[in-house]
Amino acid sequence: AAAASPTTEEPIQPAVEIKHTQLLINGNFVDAASGKTFPTLDPRTGEVIARVAEGDSEDIDRAVAAARKAFDEGPWPRMTAYERCRVLLRFADLIERHADEIAALETWDNGKTLAQSAGAEVPMLARCMRYYAGWADKIHGLVVPADGAHHVQVLHEPVGVAGQIIPWNFPLLMFAWKVGPALACGNAVVLKTAEQTPLSALYVASLLHEAGLPDGVLNVVSGFGPTAGAALCSHMGVDKLAFTGSTGTGQIVLELAARSNLKPVTLELGGKSPFIVMDDADVDQAVELAHHAVFFNQGQCCCAGSRTFVHERVYDEFVEKSKARAQKRVVGDPFRNGVEQGPQIDEEQFKKILRYVQSGVDSGATLVAGGDRAGSRGFYIQPTVFADAKDEMKIAREEIFGPVQTILKFSGVEEVIRRANATQYGLAAGVFTRSLDAANTLSRALRAGTVWVNCYDVFDAGIPFGGYKMSGVGREKGVYALRNYLQTKAVVTPIRNAAW
Ligand code: ADP
Repeated sequence: AAAASPTTEEPIQPAVEIKHTQLLINGNFVDAASGKTFPTLDPRTGEVIARVAEGDSEDIDRAVAAARKAFDEGPWPRMTAYERCRVLLRFADLIERHADEIAALETWDNGKTLAQSAGAEVPMLARCMRYYAGWADKIHGLVVPADGAHHVQVLHEPVGVAGQIIPWNFPLLMFAWKVGPALACGNAVVLKTAEQTPLSALYVASLLHEAGLPDGVLNVVSGFGPTAGAALCSHMGVDKLAFTGSTGTGQIVLELAARSNLKPVTLELGGKSPFIVMDDADVDQAVELAHHAVFFNQGQCCCAGSRTFVHERVYDEFVEKSKARAQKRVVGDPFRNGVEQGPQIDEEQFKKILRYVQSGVDSGATLVAGGDRAGSRGFYIQPTVFADAKDEMKIAREEIFGPVQTILKFSGVEEVIRRANATQYGLAAGVFTRSLDAANTLSRALRAGTVWVNCYDVFDAGIPFGGYKMSGVGREKGVYALRNYLQTKAVVTPIRNAAW
């Protein structure tokens, strides 16, 4: 069998109770103004997990008003930076105390493996919060030596109300990357979660209040993109936008921001990242890493290494071994031990991925593994590998966002640089080689915001992340993310006795 059959057994019941399904506005969980709700589904079965309050423009108005008040009048931006630091540190402690429930909620709503939620994403959420807690009291400006008899100080102030829109593939990590730096800098936030995965952000936001966050500083609105999301982008009371999602939606977000109040926007968008295997590589290691680079998180990563470029001298062996590795990948209930791949997020993505697989076959690529759904229920897809792909094929150009590896053959460094860069995207790249020269050449030549050499998907909180070209604007994480959430103010005063 190409993959385990994930759907013959009963789904494992998650060990968590769903506590929060309402909107979080001004420190209270409340119904949507319209009273409407929408279902969030279990990707293992397509069945309803819970109904969640459906925010729309009226709720965005309420949330922005609460954030405005918290910023303009509230204690948060005026607290000492050390007090803000301590709220974020207490939050990280609470995340660890409730780690099991948070991880279960994330896996239930998203379909990613529990091993990944519990082993990586919840710890990374806590780590990211501590990282930005550490910055809170180390943000300061400079004194500039001006030409005239003037004392010039540069103040770094919070931007104000930040609107943040996040996707469904990493709900907790996206929460961390957005909310961490915004709060550390003293801003207030309105967060719009993805309609597929509203649950974990509501839960952790309640913990953040338990940690001492004042009311109104973080508001969480569940709802859909064209309604709640667009209302946030267009809002005149929002001072800054941060968005992670598809490139097409990013263009809409930027346009809405421009047409309303020219709020600055950071964007983290799609990708079609190359993973380049040189001829000196240890093939077994290269196969394993390339596999991980594309199949991690069911292939639902903006930075997935989804164009696997392999040198002709190791190509045949690489393809054979990648096929075997994909066929060995354990697909099944993400709550079950040993499972490597759960279901895709929803039916829309599931169908879209299968359409891409069909287009790969139709365009003449060689299907060497997978190619179909796995089982008969839920949104599971077989780990799929195409060999002999050509650059102009859709599967080599467009973001599939699923467990589909596209292997392309190359014969020289100059050639692979040209082909790897021949894309509208520029989010990430992987290089696998023993040669320092090849690694140095490739990491400088590749037009991408991250180059992983002999590793992939390393996401420490301090490492900047973002895209070249149509993969985005600006950087998240690290010290770089602070710039997104700070205004720069020059204060100039005359010096009366310039001699001193
Ligand atoms: P995907 O196709 O992967 O779901 P999207 O870019 O559509 O990616 O979604 C990412 C986030 O953007 C989600 O929170 C979604 O609700 C939101 N979104 C979608 N459309 C819009 C829009 N027109 N305006 C603002 N936000 C949107």
